[in-house]
Amino acid sequence: MRLFGTDAELLEEAGCDVARITELERSLVAGLIECPRADIHVHVGRDRDGHELDVDGLLADMDAWGIRRTVIFAPNDPGPDGDFADANATVRRAAEVAPARLIDFCRVDPEISALSVMEEAMRHGARGLKLHPIAQGRPPESAASIACVRRATEFGWPVIMHAGFGARSLADPFLGVLNAVPEARLILAHGARGDARAVSDALADHPGVWFDTSLATLSDLVILPRERLIFGTDRPYGDHATALQLVDHAARLAKWSEADVRRVLVGNFDDILGA
Ligand SMILES: [Zn+2]
Repeated sequence: MRLFGTDAELLEEAGCDVARITELERSLVAGLIECPRADIHVHVGRDRDGHELDVDGLLADMDAWGIRRTVIFAPNDPGPDGDFADANATVRRAAEVAPARLIDFCRVDPEISALSVMEEAMRHGARGLKLHPIAQGRPPESAASIACVRRATEFGWPVIMHAGFGARSLADPFLGVLNAVPEARLILAHGARGDARAVSDALADHPGVWFDTSLATLSDLVILPRERLIFGTDRPYGDHATALQLVDHAARLAKWSEADVRRVLVGNFDDILGA
C-alpha cells in the first residue's frame, strides 16, 4: 500500500498502521476549500542525504492530493563535477513523462559552469531556475549568484531560491539581488523562514517577489502578503498533508477569503508560469 507523501514501507517496518495514517492525513485537510491546486516546490531525484522521489511517486501523490501542476527541480545532488548535469537530466526526463503537469526548473551551482548549464537547460525547455545558497555555499548576493539571476531573467525565467533555515539575515542579500536585477522574478522558499517579516518589509515595493509556503511557519504565513504566497510542499522533505493543513490554518487565522485561498493554492502559480 502506498502512503501519500510518506514512505509506506518504512512505516510498516516500524509497526505503524499505514491505512490509519492515510485516514488521519486526509482528515487534516478536510476543511480546505475545493479548488485546483498547484505546487511550486518539489525535488525529483535522489538527494545525497538519501531523500528520494521519482516521477511515478510524484504523479501518484499529485493525483491523491488534487495537485494539477507541479514545478520540479533537482535535490542536492551536484554530481562528480558539481554541475548538476545528471540531476538536471533526471528532472528533464521526469517532466517529459507528463509535460502538461510537470514544469522543470534547472538547478545550478553558481560557481560551476552555471551559465552554460542554464543555456543547455533553456534549449531543452526548462522554465525556471532553482538556487540553494546554503547547500551550494553561494550567498544570493554573490556576483556569481546575481549573474545566474540576471541570465534567468533574460530567459524570462522565474528563480526559486532557498530562503530560511540558514540563521542569517535575508532581507539585505535579497534586496541586493533585486537592486542588481530589478526585473527579476524571485520566489523565496519556505516563506523566508527566520527572517520573513524583515524580508517582506524590505521587498514590499518590489513587484517580482513571492514566497512559497513549503515548510514555512504558521506565524510567518499569517503576516506575509497573501497575494504573494504560493503553495509548495518541498517533497520529498515535506509532505502534502501538513503542507495543505498549514495553508488551511493560515487562511482561518488571517481570515482569508475563498478567493485568497485559491490565489495561494493556484492563482499566483498560474500568474507566474501561465495557466
Ligand atoms: Zn526544497
